[in-house]
Amino acid sequence: HTPHIPASGTPVTVSFGDGIGPEIMQASLRVMLAAGAHLAIEPITVGESVYRSGHAAGITDDAWESLRRTKVFFKAPITTPQGGGYKSLNVTIRKTLGLYANLRPTVAYHPVVATRHPGMDVVIVRENEEDLYGGIEHRQTRDVYQCLKLISRPGCERIVRYAFEYARAHGRHKVTCLTKDNIMKLTDGLFHKVFDEIAPAYPEITAEHMIIDIGAARLADSPERFDVIVTPNLYGDILSDIAAEVAGSVGLAPSANIGTHCAMFEAVHGSAPDIAGQDIANPSGLLLAGVMMLRHIGQAEAADRIHNAWLATIEAGIHTADIFSPDLSVQKVGTTAFADAVIARL
Ligand code: NAD
Repeated sequence: HTPHIPASGTPVTVSFGDGIGPEIMQASLRVMLAAGAHLAIEPITVGESVYRSGHAAGITDDAWESLRRTKVFFKAPITTPQGGGYKSLNVTIRKTLGLYANLRPTVAYHPVVATRHPGMDVVIVRENEEDLYGGIEHRQTRDVYQCLKLISRPGCERIVRYAFEYARAHGRHKVTCLTKDNIMKLTDGLFHKVFDEIAPAYPEITAEHMIIDIGAARLADSPERFDVIVTPNLYGDILSDIAAEVAGSVGLAPSANIGTHCAMFEAVHGSAPDIAGQDIANPSGLLLAGVMMLRHIGQAEAADRIHNAWLATIEAGIHTADIFSPDLSVQKVGTTAFADAVIARL
C-alpha cells in the first residue's frame, strides 16, 4: 500500500513521521494521488531517528534545503523525546520558515460523528511565532525561572488582519478576539488594541472581544456561538485541542501553518505511540490537512473531490475506532480500509 511517488506536479516536501505517522501519511497520500492531485513529492526524514543521530533540532541540512526549495511541507506527527535538551521541531520550523498563522478549523460532523454540539463550526487563528513560545527562558536564582512573553505590534497586526481576511474570504460573520488583557495590560493589551484598530476595516464582520478564561468556558459549553477566533500563541494551542475534542475527536482535526513564503500542513494530534503499527489510527486529521494544502497550492478541484469522498465515507458510517459508536457507525475499519473506502467514493 505504499503510494507510488510521482515526479511531476507541484513540489511538496513530505515527512512520514513517527508512531502512527507512516501509516496515516501513506493512507493520505494514496487518497490524494488517486484523486488526481499533482504532487512532486520530496520525502525527508525528521523527528525521532534524527534526534537520536545527534541533531538536537530533529532536522538535517538536507531537509532544510528541501523545505526552502518547495516552500510547502506536508508533515506527519513526530515523537518529541521527553525531557533532555531537545528543542521542539515544530517551534523551530515555524520560526525558521516564518509561519506566523496557525489555522485550526474544528467542525462537528453531526449526525454521523457523536458530538454534544451539532452546530459547531469554529476556526481558530492562532498567532504562531510570538508570545511565550519565543523560547526565551532563563534562570533568575536557584529557585526562580523566567519565561519572556513577547508580543509585537507587527506580529499582532499580521495575525489580526489574517483572521479578518480569512473571515471575509470564507463568508464568515464574526471574529472573536480572546486575550487576558485585564491582567497582562501591555502584551495582551496590545493584541486587543490592534484588534480594535483593525476591526472597523471589515464592517460586514462582527468583532467581539472576551477575556480568555470566560471565552474558554463558553467554547467548551456552547461552541456554536463562535465563528472565527483570533488569539495569541499559547492560548490558541490549548483552545484548539479543546475545540477538536468538543467537536468529536482529536483524530479529525487538521492544521495549517501559513507564512508569507512557506506553509506547513499537519494533523492537530501527535504520533500516538500507543496505537502505532496496528493499522487502526484515523488518517482523517492528516488527510484533511492535505485537503487544505491542495487548496493552498491551487489544486482546489482535487481538494473538493477528496473532501466530498471523505464526507461520503463517514456519512456511510465507515468509521475508525476513535469515532466508532454502536448507534451511529455501520462498519469499524482500520487505517488502510478507511483510505480504500474514501478512494472508492472519489
Ligand atoms: P497524541 O495526540 O499522539 O495521542 C493522544 C491520544 O489520542 C492517544 O490515546 C492516541 O491513541 C489518540 N490519537 C491521536 N491521534 C489519533 C488518531 N489519528 N487516530 C486515533 N487515535 C488517535 O498525544 P500524546 O500521546 O500526548 O503525544 C505523543 C507524541 O506525539 C509525543 O511525543 C508528543 O510530543 C508528540 N506530538 C507531536 C505533534 C506533532 O508532531 N505535530 C503534536 C502533538 C504531540
